[in-house]
Amino acid sequence: MMQERLVALQSQVKEDLAKAETLNEIEDIRVRYLGRKGAIKDIMKAIPGLPPEEKSIMGKMANKLKLDITGEIEAAEKRFSASLPPSSDKQGLKSNAQETKGTFDLSLPGKRRPYGHIHPITQTINEIKSIFSKLGFSVEYGPEVEQEYYNFDALNVPQDHPSREDFDTFYLDNKLLLRSQTSTVQIRTMKKRKPPIRMIAPGKVYRPDTVDARHASMFHQIEGLMVEEGVSFRDLKFALTSFSKIYFGEDIKMRFRPSFFPFTEPSAEVDISCSICSARGCSVCSHSGWVEVLGAGMVDPNVFEAVGYDPEKYTGFAFGLGVERLTMLRYGIDDIRLFFENDLRFLSQF
Ligand SMILES: [Zn+2]
Repeated sequence: MMQERLVALQSQVKEDLAKAETLNEIEDIRVRYLGRKGAIKDIMKAIPGLPPEEKSIMGKMANKLKLDITGEIEAAEKRFSASLPPSSDKQGLKSNAQETKGTFDLSLPGKRRPYGHIHPITQTINEIKSIFSKLGFSVEYGPEVEQEYYNFDALNVPQDHPSREDFDTFYLDNKLLLRSQTSTVQIRTMKKRKPPIRMIAPGKVYRPDTVDARHASMFHQIEGLMVEEGVSFRDLKFALTSFSKIYFGEDIKMRFRPSFFPFTEPSAEVDISCSICSARGCSVCSHSGWVEVLGAGMVDPNVFEAVGYDPEKYTGFAFGLGVERLTMLRYGIDDIRLFFENDLRFLSQF
Protein backbone atom coordinates (compact mmCIF):
# COMPACT_ATOMS: atom_id res chain seq x y z
CA MET A 1 0.00 0.00 0.00
CA MET A 2 2.62 2.50 1.11
CA GLN A 3 5.09 1.06 -1.37
CA GLU A 4 2.66 1.86 -4.20
CA ARG A 5 2.36 5.39 -2.90
CA LEU A 6 6.11 5.85 -3.04
CA VAL A 7 6.35 4.58 -6.62
CA ALA A 8 3.46 6.81 -7.69
CA LEU A 9 5.11 9.80 -6.03
CA GLN A 10 8.36 9.28 -7.91
CA SER A 11 6.68 9.17 -11.32
CA GLN A 12 4.52 12.18 -10.39
CA VAL A 13 7.69 14.21 -9.65
CA LYS A 14 9.17 13.25 -13.00
CA GLU A 15 5.99 14.25 -14.79
CA ASP A 16 5.83 17.61 -13.02
CA LEU A 17 9.48 18.37 -13.74
CA ALA A 18 9.00 17.59 -17.42
CA LYS A 19 6.19 20.15 -17.58
CA ALA A 20 8.10 22.87 -15.70
CA GLU A 21 9.00 25.87 -17.85
CA THR A 22 10.75 28.20 -15.43
CA LEU A 23 13.10 28.00 -12.49
CA ASN A 24 10.24 29.27 -10.32
CA GLU A 25 8.10 26.30 -11.30
CA ILE A 26 10.91 23.92 -10.43
CA GLU A 27 11.17 25.62 -7.06
CA ASP A 28 7.41 25.08 -6.53
CA ILE A 29 7.87 21.38 -7.23
CA ARG A 30 10.66 21.22 -4.68
CA VAL A 31 8.46 22.78 -1.99
CA ARG A 32 5.53 20.54 -2.91
CA TYR A 33 7.50 17.31 -2.50
CA LEU A 34 10.43 18.06 -0.22
CA GLY A 35 9.19 21.07 1.78
CA ARG A 36 8.16 21.10 5.44
CA LYS A 37 4.58 20.33 4.50
CA GLY A 38 5.55 18.29 1.43
CA ALA A 39 4.54 14.81 0.37
CA ILE A 40 7.74 13.18 1.59
CA LYS A 41 7.30 14.67 5.06
CA ASP A 42 3.79 13.16 5.20
CA ILE A 43 5.14 9.73 4.40
CA MET A 44 7.93 10.03 6.98
CA LYS A 45 5.33 10.92 9.60
CA ALA A 46 3.28 7.82 8.79
CA ILE A 47 6.20 5.38 9.07
CA PRO A 48 6.36 5.11 12.94
CA GLY A 49 2.75 3.83 12.92
CA LEU A 50 3.52 0.89 10.62
CA PRO A 51 3.87 -2.71 11.79
CA PRO A 52 7.47 -3.39 12.95
CA GLU A 53 8.38 -5.67 10.00
CA GLU A 54 7.37 -2.92 7.49
CA LYS A 55 8.85 -0.02 9.41
CA SER A 56 12.51 -0.46 8.52
CA ILE A 57 11.85 -1.42 4.88
CA MET A 58 9.60 1.57 4.30
CA GLY A 59 11.98 3.87 6.15
CA LYS A 60 14.79 2.90 3.79
CA MET A 61 12.57 3.23 0.73
CA ALA A 62 11.33 6.65 1.78
CA ASN A 63 14.88 7.89 2.37
CA LYS A 64 16.00 6.64 -1.00
CA LEU A 65 13.04 8.32 -2.67
CA LYS A 66 13.89 11.58 -0.96
CA LEU A 67 17.45 11.43 -2.32
CA ASP A 68 16.24 10.51 -5.81
CA ILE A 69 13.78 13.39 -5.93
CA THR A 70 16.38 15.87 -4.63
CA GLY A 71 18.77 14.70 -7.36
CA GLU A 72 16.20 15.04 -10.10
CA ILE A 73 15.19 18.53 -9.04
CA GLU A 74 18.81 19.67 -8.89
CA ALA A 75 19.50 18.22 -12.33
CA ALA A 76 16.45 20.00 -13.73
CA GLU A 77 17.63 23.30 -12.23
CA LYS A 78 21.07 22.85 -13.77
CA ARG A 79 19.70 22.03 -17.20
CA PHE A 80 17.55 25.09 -16.98
CA SER A 81 20.20 27.57 -15.87
CA ALA A 82 22.60 26.35 -18.54
CA SER A 83 20.10 27.02 -21.32
CA LEU A 84 19.48 30.62 -20.26
CA PRO A 85 21.62 33.63 -21.08
CA PRO A 86 23.62 34.69 -17.97
CA SER A 87 21.96 38.12 -17.78
CA SER A 88 18.42 36.76 -17.28
CA ASP A 89 16.83 37.97 -14.10
CA LYS A 90 14.09 36.18 -12.21
CA GLN A 91 11.26 38.15 -13.77
CA GLY A 92 12.64 37.62 -17.22
CA LEU A 93 12.88 33.88 -16.86
CA LYS A 94 9.36 32.93 -17.75
CA SER A 95 8.87 34.96 -20.89
CA ASN A 96 12.37 34.19 -22.07
CA ALA A 97 11.93 30.46 -21.68
CA GLN A 98 8.53 30.48 -23.31
CA GLU A 99 9.81 32.41 -26.28
CA THR A 100 12.71 30.05 -26.75
CA LYS A 101 10.46 27.04 -26.50
CA GLY A 102 7.82 28.12 -28.97
CA THR A 103 9.74 29.94 -31.68
CA PHE A 104 13.09 28.32 -32.29
CA ASP A 105 13.79 28.91 -35.97
CA LEU A 106 16.36 26.56 -37.47
CA SER A 107 16.56 28.53 -40.71
CA LEU A 108 17.93 31.70 -39.04
CA PRO A 109 21.66 32.30 -39.59
CA GLY A 110 23.87 31.77 -36.52
CA LYS A 111 25.48 34.57 -34.53
CA ARG A 112 28.68 35.68 -36.22
CA ARG A 113 31.61 35.81 -33.85
CA PRO A 114 34.66 37.96 -34.65
CA TYR A 115 37.63 35.91 -35.87
CA GLY A 116 40.89 36.11 -34.01
CA HIS A 117 43.97 36.09 -36.22
CA ILE A 118 47.71 35.75 -36.14
CA HIS A 119 49.82 38.61 -34.73
CA PRO A 120 51.85 40.45 -37.42
CA ILE A 121 55.15 39.46 -35.73
CA THR A 122 54.16 35.78 -35.78
CA GLN A 123 53.07 36.18 -39.41
CA THR A 124 56.52 37.54 -40.31
CA ILE A 125 58.26 34.72 -38.43
CA ASN A 126 56.08 32.13 -40.17
CA GLU A 127 56.84 33.65 -43.57
CA ILE A 128 60.60 33.76 -42.92
CA LYS A 129 60.52 30.17 -41.68
CA SER A 130 58.77 29.12 -44.87
CA ILE A 131 61.26 30.99 -47.11
CA PHE A 132 64.32 29.49 -45.41
CA SER A 133 62.73 26.04 -45.33
CA LYS A 134 62.66 26.19 -49.12
CA LEU A 135 66.39 27.00 -49.04
CA GLY A 136 66.95 23.82 -46.98
CA PHE A 137 67.21 25.38 -43.49
CA SER A 138 65.75 23.59 -40.46
CA VAL A 139 64.05 25.53 -37.65
CA GLU A 140 65.60 25.24 -34.17
CA TYR A 141 64.59 26.65 -30.79
CA GLY A 142 66.39 27.34 -27.54
CA PRO A 143 65.60 28.59 -24.03
CA GLU A 144 65.03 32.28 -23.26
CA VAL A 145 66.63 31.92 -19.82
CA GLU A 146 70.17 31.10 -20.81
CA GLN A 147 73.64 30.51 -19.39
CA GLU A 148 76.37 33.10 -19.89
CA TYR A 149 78.32 30.41 -21.68
CA TYR A 150 75.85 30.16 -24.58
CA ASN A 151 75.09 33.87 -24.76
CA PHE A 152 78.73 35.08 -24.63
CA ASP A 153 81.62 32.70 -23.90
CA ALA A 154 81.07 30.17 -26.67
CA LEU A 155 80.33 33.02 -29.10
CA ASN A 156 83.83 34.43 -28.64
CA VAL A 157 82.57 37.53 -26.82
CA PRO A 158 85.53 38.83 -24.74
CA GLN A 159 85.13 39.12 -20.94
CA ASP A 160 85.34 42.92 -21.12
CA HIS A 161 83.00 43.35 -24.09
CA PRO A 162 80.42 46.12 -23.49
CA SER A 163 77.50 43.84 -24.47
CA ARG A 164 78.15 41.89 -21.25
CA GLU A 165 77.49 44.96 -19.09
CA ASP A 166 74.39 45.22 -16.92
CA PHE A 167 72.97 47.94 -19.12
CA ASP A 168 73.05 45.66 -22.17
CA THR A 169 71.92 42.35 -20.65
CA PHE A 170 69.31 41.30 -18.08
CA TYR A 171 71.09 39.13 -15.49
CA LEU A 172 69.39 36.62 -13.23
CA ASP A 173 70.99 34.71 -10.36
CA ASN A 174 73.61 31.96 -10.73
CA LYS A 175 75.22 33.09 -13.98
CA LEU A 176 71.86 32.94 -15.74
CA LEU A 177 70.50 35.71 -17.96
CA LEU A 178 67.69 36.47 -20.36
CA ARG A 179 69.29 35.81 -23.73
CA SER A 180 70.20 39.02 -25.55
CA GLN A 181 70.49 37.28 -28.93
CA THR A 182 69.26 34.13 -30.67
CA SER A 183 72.88 33.24 -31.54
CA THR A 184 72.72 31.05 -28.43
CA VAL A 185 70.77 28.51 -30.49
CA GLN A 186 73.69 28.23 -33.01
CA ILE A 187 75.90 27.00 -30.21
CA ARG A 188 73.29 24.62 -28.82
CA THR A 189 72.61 23.17 -32.27
CA MET A 190 76.30 22.76 -33.19
CA LYS A 191 76.96 21.03 -29.87
CA LYS A 192 74.18 18.56 -30.64
CA ARG A 193 74.89 17.89 -34.30
CA LYS A 194 77.74 17.44 -36.74
CA PRO A 195 77.97 19.42 -40.02
CA PRO A 196 76.44 19.93 -42.50
CA ILE A 197 74.12 22.35 -40.70
CA ARG A 198 71.61 24.75 -42.16
CA MET A 199 69.33 26.22 -39.53
CA ILE A 200 67.38 29.25 -38.49
CA ALA A 201 66.33 30.01 -34.91
CA PRO A 202 63.45 32.41 -34.34
CA GLY A 203 62.63 33.68 -30.86
CA LYS A 204 62.37 36.41 -28.26
CA VAL A 205 65.42 38.27 -27.00
CA TYR A 206 65.74 40.75 -24.13
CA ARG A 207 67.78 43.91 -23.63
CA PRO A 208 67.44 46.66 -21.03
CA ASP A 209 66.99 49.36 -23.68
CA THR A 210 64.95 52.44 -22.96
CA VAL A 211 61.67 51.91 -24.75
CA ASP A 212 60.97 54.35 -27.58
CA ALA A 213 59.70 54.24 -31.18
CA ARG A 214 62.70 52.14 -32.27
CA HIS A 215 63.55 50.16 -29.12
CA ALA A 216 61.78 47.66 -26.90
CA SER A 217 63.15 45.64 -23.99
CA MET A 218 61.84 42.47 -25.62
CA PHE A 219 61.86 41.85 -29.35
CA HIS A 220 62.26 39.00 -31.83
CA GLN A 221 65.28 37.86 -33.77
CA ILE A 222 65.93 35.16 -36.28
CA GLU A 223 69.37 33.64 -36.27
CA GLY A 224 70.67 31.81 -39.32
CA LEU A 225 73.61 29.44 -39.60
CA MET A 226 75.11 27.32 -42.36
CA VAL A 227 78.16 25.14 -41.76
CA GLU A 228 79.68 22.77 -44.30
CA GLU A 229 82.99 22.13 -46.00
CA GLY A 230 83.73 24.99 -48.40
CA VAL A 231 80.99 27.48 -47.45
CA SER A 232 82.07 30.95 -48.55
CA PHE A 233 80.92 34.56 -48.29
CA ARG A 234 79.35 34.05 -51.71
CA ASP A 235 76.94 31.51 -50.19
CA LEU A 236 76.04 34.05 -47.51
CA LYS A 237 75.28 36.69 -50.13
CA PHE A 238 73.27 34.22 -52.15
CA ALA A 239 71.15 33.12 -49.17
CA LEU A 240 70.44 36.67 -48.01
CA THR A 241 69.77 38.02 -51.49
CA SER A 242 67.39 35.16 -52.24
CA PHE A 243 65.58 35.77 -48.98
CA SER A 244 65.25 39.55 -49.51
CA LYS A 245 63.94 39.17 -53.04
CA ILE A 246 61.25 36.74 -51.88
CA TYR A 247 60.34 38.77 -48.80
CA PHE A 248 60.51 42.32 -50.18
CA GLY A 249 60.20 41.72 -53.93
CA GLU A 250 62.48 41.37 -56.96
CA ASP A 251 63.34 45.08 -57.14
CA ILE A 252 64.99 45.22 -53.74
CA LYS A 253 68.70 46.10 -53.69
CA MET A 254 71.14 44.96 -51.06
CA ARG A 255 74.51 46.23 -49.87
CA PHE A 256 77.07 44.84 -47.45
CA ARG A 257 79.07 47.19 -45.23
CA PRO A 258 82.11 45.93 -43.32
CA SER A 259 81.43 45.69 -39.59
CA PHE A 260 82.59 43.87 -36.49
CA PHE A 261 80.95 41.16 -34.38
CA PRO A 262 82.87 38.91 -31.97
CA PHE A 263 81.42 35.70 -33.43
CA THR A 264 82.02 36.34 -37.14
CA GLU A 265 85.07 37.29 -39.17
CA PRO A 266 84.76 39.02 -41.58
CA SER A 267 81.48 40.64 -40.52
CA ALA A 268 79.04 42.82 -42.39
CA GLU A 269 76.01 44.93 -41.75
CA VAL A 270 73.48 44.46 -44.49
CA ASP A 271 71.28 47.25 -45.84
CA ILE A 272 68.41 47.01 -48.27
CA SER A 273 67.07 49.76 -50.46
CA CYS A 274 64.28 51.53 -48.54
CA SER A 275 61.04 49.85 -49.45
CA ILE A 276 58.94 52.67 -48.02
CA CYS A 277 60.17 55.49 -50.29
CA SER A 278 61.56 53.22 -53.08
CA ALA A 279 65.02 54.56 -52.13
CA ARG A 280 64.09 58.16 -52.91
CA GLY A 281 64.67 59.16 -49.27
CA CYS A 282 62.29 59.37 -46.31
CA SER A 283 62.40 59.68 -42.51
CA VAL A 284 62.58 55.91 -42.00
CA CYS A 285 65.80 55.63 -44.04
CA SER A 286 67.12 59.01 -42.75
CA HIS A 287 66.91 60.22 -46.39
CA SER A 288 69.71 57.89 -47.41
CA GLY A 289 67.59 55.44 -49.39
CA TRP A 290 69.09 52.52 -47.40
CA VAL A 291 68.02 50.79 -44.19
CA GLU A 292 69.98 48.30 -42.13
CA VAL A 293 68.15 44.99 -41.76
CA LEU A 294 70.65 42.50 -40.44
CA GLY A 295 74.15 41.62 -39.32
CA ALA A 296 76.06 38.72 -40.82
CA GLY A 297 79.47 37.22 -41.40
CA MET A 298 81.64 34.12 -41.63
CA VAL A 299 81.66 32.09 -38.39
CA ASP A 300 84.79 32.89 -36.36
CA PRO A 301 87.12 29.84 -36.00
CA ASN A 302 87.06 30.39 -32.21
CA VAL A 303 83.33 29.59 -32.22
CA PHE A 304 83.98 26.33 -34.06
CA GLU A 305 86.63 25.45 -31.51
CA ALA A 306 84.19 26.12 -28.67
CA VAL A 307 81.71 23.59 -30.08
CA GLY A 308 84.33 21.04 -31.10
CA TYR A 309 84.27 21.51 -34.89
CA ASP A 310 87.54 21.46 -36.83
CA PRO A 311 88.02 25.05 -38.13
CA GLU A 312 90.49 23.76 -40.73
CA LYS A 313 87.82 21.55 -42.22
CA TYR A 314 84.60 23.51 -41.90
CA THR A 315 83.55 27.03 -42.73
CA GLY A 316 80.19 28.64 -42.25
CA PHE A 317 78.18 31.81 -42.24
CA ALA A 318 75.79 33.25 -39.67
CA PHE A 319 73.30 36.08 -39.72
CA GLY A 320 70.83 37.66 -37.35
CA LEU A 321 67.84 39.70 -38.35
CA GLY A 322 65.32 41.72 -36.37
CA VAL A 323 61.76 40.56 -36.95
CA GLU A 324 60.10 43.80 -35.79
CA ARG A 325 62.36 45.83 -38.07
CA LEU A 326 61.52 43.73 -41.13
CA THR A 327 57.81 43.93 -40.36
CA MET A 328 58.00 47.71 -39.87
CA LEU A 329 59.81 48.17 -43.17
CA ARG A 330 57.39 46.06 -45.09
CA TYR A 331 54.26 47.77 -43.81
CA GLY A 332 55.65 51.28 -43.22
CA ILE A 333 55.13 51.14 -39.44
CA ASP A 334 57.13 53.81 -37.61
CA ASP A 335 56.71 52.77 -33.96
CA ILE A 336 57.79 49.39 -32.57
CA ARG A 337 55.57 49.83 -29.48
CA LEU A 338 52.45 49.31 -31.60
CA PHE A 339 53.29 45.60 -31.82
CA PHE A 340 53.04 45.11 -28.06
CA GLU A 341 50.14 47.36 -27.06
CA ASN A 342 47.51 44.87 -28.24
CA ASP A 343 45.31 47.58 -29.71
CA LEU A 344 42.90 45.70 -31.97
CA ARG A 345 42.51 48.72 -34.24
CA PHE A 346 46.19 48.25 -35.13
CA LEU A 347 46.39 44.46 -35.05
CA SER A 348 43.27 43.84 -37.13
CA GLN A 349 44.92 45.48 -40.15
CA PHE A 350 47.24 42.53 -40.76
ZN1 LIG B 1 63.07 55.65 -47.23
